[in-house]
Amino acid sequence: MAITRDDVLKTLSTVTVDAGGTTLPASGRLSQVVVDPNGRVMFSILIDPSEAERFEPIRRQAEGAILATPGVSGVFASLTSERGPNHPAQGQAPQPPAPGRPAAPPPPRTGPALPGVRHIVAVASGKGGVGKSTTACNLALALAAQGLKVGLLDADIYGPSVPKLFGLSGKPRVIEERMLAPMEGYGIKVMSIGFLIEAETAMIWRGPMVQSAITQMLREVAWGDLDILVVDMPPGTGDAQLTMAQATPLSGAVIVSTPQDLALIDARRGVTMFRKVSVPILGVIENMATFVCPNCGHASHIFGHGGARDEAARLDVPFLGEIPLNMTIRESSDAGRPVVAVDPDGPQAKVYRDIAAKLWTNLNGAPATRAAPRIVFE
Ligand code: ADP
Repeated sequence: MAITRDDVLKTLSTVTVDAGGTTLPASGRLSQVVVDPNGRVMFSILIDPSEAERFEPIRRQAEGAILATPGVSGVFASLTSERGPNHPAQGQAPQPPAPGRPAAPPPPRTGPALPGVRHIVAVASGKGGVGKSTTACNLALALAAQGLKVGLLDADIYGPSVPKLFGLSGKPRVIEERMLAPMEGYGIKVMSIGFLIEAETAMIWRGPMVQSAITQMLREVAWGDLDILVVDMPPGTGDAQLTMAQATPLSGAVIVSTPQDLALIDARRGVTMFRKVSVPILGVIENMATFVCPNCGHASHIFGHGGARDEAARLDVPFLGEIPLNMTIRESSDAGRPVVAVDPDGPQAKVYRDIAAKLWTNLNGAPATRAAPRIVFE
C-alpha cells in the first residue's frame, strides 16, 4: 500500500526529542516531509548547531522508524541548522512549544539562504533542447564580465552539460568534512552533478533524490562570496522542478524558450510553475530567434520570430532579449569554449551581455537572499 505523508507523521510521532516526551512533529523541528510515488521519504530535523551531537541518535531513530514502515522503499533524513528571520533556530537554541501552544511556524517557502550568496537565479525552460544550458552558461559569463562574482550550478540532473560547455573534467576537491571546492572555468565557480557521478546514474532518480542531490550541491560546496549563483535547472515543469523551485532560496527565475508555438506553451507552464511557489519571473529569453546567413547576411526566422516577446507581454513578465541561431554559439559551446569567454567583444557576446545587464537590473528590484545560515551535517 502506498505510504502517505500522514503515515510518515504518525510514525515520526513515536520519536521523542526531549525528556518531557515532546514528539518530533510537535517539536516544530520537522521540515517539510516529502513522499515520492515510489515510497521514498525525505525530511530534515531543524536544530541549533550546538545540538548536533544530541540530535544524531534522534535522527537515526526517526530514519529507522520510517524505514520499518510498510510501503517505504527509502529514506533521507538529515539534520539542518538554519538562521533566518522566520526560523526558530535564529541566534538561539530552538525552544519546544509551550504545552497547549501551537508548534513553531513551518520553515519558509524558499529554505534557508546560502551563506555569502546574494542572489540565486534559476534558468529554466518548459522543455529540453531549447538552449537553456548554453544560455545559462553564457549569461553567467556575461554577468562575470560586468565585474560580478558569479557561480554556476548545473542542476540539470538528467542531462548535465556544464562540464562539457566549460571544457572541464575531473573530480572536485574535498576541502573539509563533506565540503567540496567548486571547479573553476573562465573565472567563474562551477559545480555539476556531471563531476560527481557517472552520466547515466541520475537518469533513474525521482523527486526527493533529485532534490537531495541539488541541495547537496547548493549547500555542501564552498561557493564563497558570490553576487549571483546561476542555476541551470532540469528542463520541464514536473514534480522535481517544482520541488526544487520551492526548496531553493531563489531570488527569481529566467525562462528560456524558442519562438515556436509548442515551446511557448511549455514556457508558459514554466512561468505558472514559478508563480505557484511565488518565485519572481525576472524575464523570458527568446533563443534561436533569427538565423543570419554567414554567407549573404540574410536574416531568416526559422522557428518564427517574436513569439516569446509577445508571450512575455501576455503573461505580464519582462522580456530580456533575443539570441540568434548562430553557428559560432553552437560550435563554441560544443567545443567547451563558450562564446562570451572566448570572443568577449564579438556580436554574440554582446547579445548575452545586454541580456545579463537587464537581468541584473530586474534582480535588484527583487529581495536578496537572507542572512547567513549555519549548516550541520548528519
Ligand atoms: P538545453 O539545455 O535546453 O537542452 P542546450 O543548451 O544543450 O539546450 O542546447 C542544445 C543545442 O543547441 C546545443 O548543441 C547547443 O550548442 C545549441 N544551441 C543552443 N543555443 C543556440 C544558439 N543560440 N545558436 C545555435 N545553437 C544553439
